[in-house]
Amino acid sequence: MGEFDLIARYFQRPVQRAALGVGDDCALLQPGPGMQLAISSDMLLEGRHFLSTVDPRKLGHKALAVNLSDLAACGAKPLAFTLALALPRVDENWLAEFAEGLLALANAHGCELIGGDTTQGPLNICITVLGEVPVVDGRSLALLRNGACAGDDLYVSGTLGDARLALEVFRGTVSVPAPVFEAARARMEQPTPRVALGLALRGIATAAIDVSDGLLGDLGHILQQSGVGATVEADLAASLVAARALCAATTPRPGSEIAQNHWRSWALAGGDDYELLFTAPPAARARVANAASSSQTAVTRIGQIEQQSGLRLVDSEGRELPNKYSSFDHFA
Ligand code: ADP
Ligand code: MG
Repeated sequence: MGEFDLIARYFQRPVQRAALGVGDDCALLQPGPGMQLAISSDMLLEGRHFLSTVDPRKLGHKALAVNLSDLAACGAKPLAFTLALALPRVDENWLAEFAEGLLALANAHGCELIGGDTTQGPLNICITVLGEVPVVDGRSLALLRNGACAGDDLYVSGTLGDARLALEVFRGTVSVPAPVFEAARARMEQPTPRVALGLALRGIATAAIDVSDGLLGDLGHILQQSGVGATVEADLAASLVAARALCAATTPRPGSEIAQNHWRSWALAGGDDYELLFTAPPAARARVANAASSSQTAVTRIGQIEQQSGLRLVDSEGRELPNKYSSFDHFA
């Protein structure tokens, strides 16, 4: 099978929203009236972002999910995406499953594959997503990193640290009962982009980011770009590891209990969570709760934005904890 048959078979679909999709030198996309385009790219490399043994269906899902998560963080509605793919060889079973996982998530979000590039080489998946954000009275409704204000509440969606727990189990540094591992592994391999929450937070959140490298590191970007500081309740964050409740519900082998500092570390710096971290003024608490329920996404208030710069961690009694956590950095 040649390059063009491969594209036609696995990636060419009739377009629904775009003016022109796969098959010409460019795709054509007409943004709605009064809309700004939101654009983001993410690259996934074998060995760096995923294990070579991963199910191709799940890989297809994740490759798009991490991109949709960036649109969610900006409050952008997904429109379309391009797929640049390097493949070591044509493996039709692999391609069929990869395309299935990818396009199932794309369909669920009304996000069309409109173009890309295909070459031979070490497995590498690069997706660029395009979304739209309304401009009202000349002002973009995009959620950005620079709008957090002293006094704002700090919130995070969903659960934290489960992807990291799964990675640690793969690495052999911890062990958990099989059902706990399976649940954590699903969070690592098939993250849920919080698109509906991002849309519901337009006009409510003052700043937002998606948690990909680790909560504290990603929070650092909001703090730096907003020129503020924050206090985070470490134990509240640590309570958001879904695997923790599952572990508590099983009888651990004596000595196999996972220490509190591990839960804290995975929640605060685990990475690969793809949750939304955002700020909003206390006056907006009811509106945040409405956005959470209308998008069917749990949201937890885990701290406060403050004038004083820097990041402070406190335990459940309000005692300050040392911040020894570092988030993922490809070159650190
Ligand atoms: P060009 O050489 O003009 O850049 P290509 O020959 O690379 O075009 O691609 C042919 C068509 O197939 C283009 O419309 C391109 O967007 C699309 N395409 C290539 N690879 C992919 C892919 N992996 N997924 C979706 N569309 C693709
Ligand atoms: Mg090309």
